[in-house]
Amino acid sequence: MELLKERIRRDGVVKKGNVLKVDSFLNHQMDIQLFNEIGKEFKRRFAACPINKILTIEASGIGIACIAAQYFDVPVVFAKKAQSINIDGDVYSTKIESFTHKKVYDVIVSKKFLNENDRVLIIDDFLANGCALAGLIDLVQSAGAVIEGIGIVVEKGFQNGGDLIRSKGVRLESLAIIDGMNDETGEITFRD
Ligand code: 5GP
Repeated sequence: MELLKERIRRDGVVKKGNVLKVDSFLNHQMDIQLFNEIGKEFKRRFAACPINKILTIEASGIGIACIAAQYFDVPVVFAKKAQSINIDGDVYSTKIESFTHKKVYDVIVSKKFLNENDRVLIIDDFLANGCALAGLIDLVQSAGAVIEGIGIVVEKGFQNGGDLIRSKGVRLESLAIIDGMNDETGEITFRD
């Protein structure tokens, strides 16, 4: 998605530790016009899929998922970060290791909002090592629901999450794939 790549080139900031900061338009301040274009692009790519629900994870995925959901006309469910102590039988739960915070979180979805009749599109802002997505896939499978596909805004193609997810046979669509970034020059290389 050319518009997104241009924006990343213009406003993305490469930090040490393979972190790309996009907080001026994607995950702190949010450019809603750009989000609309992202939502339309996800709809275009998954138009043929019988999606009835979008699943994402708090916090950064929620805004993107909500705007995209308007093009699919489906509800959004977000996986919540929870304290293990509060997890009961009414929820599906899994563990996710955070790339940015290097911590392990329990995340949950209520059984009320995900079940075997659901055909789910998973949406998130970033794909790095794939832990967040592996957790979301686990939640969908626990519910007996079907994963129609995964939509990611920025995939860091030089980390192994994309390969991991594609090797599971899940359809993964990333709107911008970064093959390399240099924290000294700020240069970002995209896959075509
Ligand atoms: P993964 O679980 O694939 O390793 O990491 C995905 C999660 O980590 C995303 O939901 C995102 O919040 C965060 N993340 C991973 N890499 C980056 C990055 O380079 N920049 C930002 N802003 N967040 C990232």
